[in-house]
Amino acid sequence: MPDTLASPAFSLPVIQAAGEGKQVSPDYVRLSAASAMALRLQSGRFSRDFDFGGINLLLNYDDGCLSDCAYCGLARTRPGDYEDKSFIRVDWPLFDTDAVVDRMARYESKMTRLCISMVTHGSAYEDTVDITKRITAKVKTPLSILVAPPTLNRERLQVFKNLGVDMIGVGLDAVSEQVFFNRRTDVPNGGLKWKNYWDVINHSRDIFGPWKVNIHTVVGLGETDRDLVDMFYHLKDRQILAYLFCFNPEPDSRMADYQKSPIRRWRRIQLVKYLIGETELQPETIHFDDEGNLVKLNVPVATIEGFLRSAEGGIPFMTDGCPGENGEPGCTRPYGSYRPAEQYRDFPFVPETADMLAIRQELHLEEIIS
Ligand code: SF4
Repeated sequence: MPDTLASPAFSLPVIQAAGEGKQVSPDYVRLSAASAMALRLQSGRFSRDFDFGGINLLLNYDDGCLSDCAYCGLARTRPGDYEDKSFIRVDWPLFDTDAVVDRMARYESKMTRLCISMVTHGSAYEDTVDITKRITAKVKTPLSILVAPPTLNRERLQVFKNLGVDMIGVGLDAVSEQVFFNRRTDVPNGGLKWKNYWDVINHSRDIFGPWKVNIHTVVGLGETDRDLVDMFYHLKDRQILAYLFCFNPEPDSRMADYQKSPIRRWRRIQLVKYLIGETELQPETIHFDDEGNLVKLNVPVATIEGFLRSAEGGIPFMTDGCPGENGEPGCTRPYGSYRPAEQYRDFPFVPETADMLAIRQELHLEEIIS
C-alpha cells in the first residue's frame, strides 16, 4: 500500500489525551504515529513511500510507566507530563481502543503485525488481557505482546498464549547483566531485575516455542561488541530471536547527552548479527580487541562482497521485528531508531541501490576483513 500513507488529511475520530480527564487503558491506547497513519487515524506522510502494516499499541496510564530506565522517553523521573512524553523518539497519540480495533478490522488486509506494548504498571496485565480479547475477537492479523516482565509470571504468559497471542517480545535492551544494572536497576526509581527478565524469557520460550519469542537488544547503552555477539549466539542456541535497536537519545532522559553509536559500528553489528542468525558463521571467526571491540572478521572478502551485492544483501539493514503471517517484514517501526530528518539506521523497506552504496561505505569493511 505505497500510497495510502501518503494520502492527505482524513476526517478523524481522534481522541486526544490532553486535558480530557482519565483516558486510560484498557479503553484508551496510544498508537505510534506511523501506526495511526496506517489506520487513517492521523494524517501525515513518510519521506519515502513504502508498504507499512505493523501496528504498535502502547498502554496508557495517568501515572505512566513505573520503571525509570536511563534511556527511555517514558521514564518516571524524566521531566514532563506522561501524556506529553515520547517513546523511542516518536509521538504516541491517544485513541479510543474500540475505534482502533475497528480500524484494524477495516484495514486487516493491509496489516502485517499487531503489537501491544505493556508498561510497568499495576493494571498492565489485566488491561493487556482485555485489549487482546478485543483484538482477537475481530482481527486475525498475528499479534505480539511486548511484555513488562515485572507484571508477569508463567501463568499469565500461558493466558496470553491461550488468548491467541502469536509471539512474545521482551525488551531486555541491555545485553549484559552489568549494563542492565547500570541503566535499569541502579537508577532513581529503578529496581528492574535481570533475573526477572530471564525468568519471563525462559517461561515464554517454554510456552510459545522455538522462534516465537524475541528479545529487543539495544546498541549504544554501554555494552561492547563482544557482549552483543555473545548474546546473539546465546539466543540462537535457544531458538529465540534477537531484534536489533539503535540507542537514540531521548531529550531530558538521563542519557539525553549520550551519543548514539557511530554509524560504522552500527552497520557492522547489523551485518554480523545477520550472519550469526542466518548463516553458519562460527564464533572463532569474529575477533575482538581487549576492550571487546570487533576488529576482525575472518571471512573471505569475496564472500561478504558477493552477499552485499546479492538480492538478499540489504536484509541485514532492514528493521528487525516480528514477521507478518507469511514471514514477510511485519513490525517495521519507521523512525524508531532515527529522526525523520536523519539517515535510516534501519530500513522499513528493502534498501535501494543508492542506499546499499551508502551502507557499504559506512561499513568500511576493508578495516575488518582482508
Ligand atoms: S518486534 Fe515489534 S511486534 Fe515484535 S515485540 Fe517488538 S515491537 Fe512488538
